[in-house]
Amino acid sequence: MSTKPVNTEAYHTGSCLCGQISYEITGNPKFCVLCHCVNCKKWTGSGSGWLAFFNKHQVRYTKGEDALKTYADGATDRGSILLRNSCAECSAALTVVPTYHADSVGVMVGSVDGDVSEVWKPKSEVYCKDRPKWLPDLEVKQYDISSYASSA
Ligand SMILES: [Zn+2]
Ligand SMILES: [Zn+2]
Repeated sequence: MSTKPVNTEAYHTGSCLCGQISYEITGNPKFCVLCHCVNCKKWTGSGSGWLAFFNKHQVRYTKGEDALKTYADGATDRGSILLRNSCAECSAALTVVPTYHADSVGVMVGSVDGDVSEVWKPKSEVYCKDRPKWLPDLEVKQYDISSYASSA
């Protein structure tokens, strides 16, 4: 007896704040991470970025893809470009595409509909050199800088 994983695959949707852009995600993330880098702080206006990484084909825009605004973030410590996609209308941070892993897309988990805080709990924290001091120990792997290569 065989089971077809496609039938039981996880399915999620998400959107920007104003709702003109929405997307759907099929399947589970490759990994989930809490990123404390300065660029994520600046981009999100928050203490850290909570990201779930998928293969590109798992994430599909269902509405408003032409309203995406892409910022090519070249100020990464690897010196390679990270594409940061947000809504041109409400500025919500939605996805990132690392040009050094162009088959991957990172979804800003705060834009996902519903509660995924247990299932997409970060398994690691990166750029802990800039970790907020008030954040309690999450008992996950911590890296001073990026761990993409080791966790991908
Ligand atoms: Zn929007
Ligand atoms: Zn970051």
